[in-house]
Amino acid sequence: MIARAYAVARVLVGRLARGADLLESLAQLARQHGVRMGWCSFFGAVQRARLAYYDQEARSYRAIELDRPLEIATGVGNVSLLDGDVFVHAHAVLSDAEGRCYAGHLDAGTVVFACEYALFELSGAEPLSRWPDADTGLKLWTGS
Ligand code: ZN
Repeated sequence: MIARAYAVARVLVGRLARGADLLESLAQLARQHGVRMGWCSFFGAVQRARLAYYDQEARSYRAIELDRPLEIATGVGNVSLLDGDVFVHAHAVLSDAEGRCYAGHLDAGTVVFACEYALFELSGAEPLSRWPDADTGLKLWTGS
């Protein structure tokens, strides 16, 4: 288990640009504002989406391509470091015209239609860093 205590230093609130890549926009936002450790919440709509499901047996991601407009019913993510650079890990629940949901790990290739976000910058301890984890095959936070 890893547990570090942080305080919320700032909360950036705004809207992402239409047509932008959702995941990359969140990473750019963090980089532009110097956020190296943080938490984010977002919702709105996308023009198309690319989610992923991590196959625990195969230890690889399976792409979920959703080439249609969907609502972002909810999205959550965090900001930490990977190879010394800011890295955003996010998951989203997307809904269609009937309210049916698709959910998973948010991948590059998800295009914003409209998206409002809050990004909480955390301070008070060293940012967490991701490293390859032999048990899961994922890049997970390490340290104490
Ligand atoms: Zn994930």
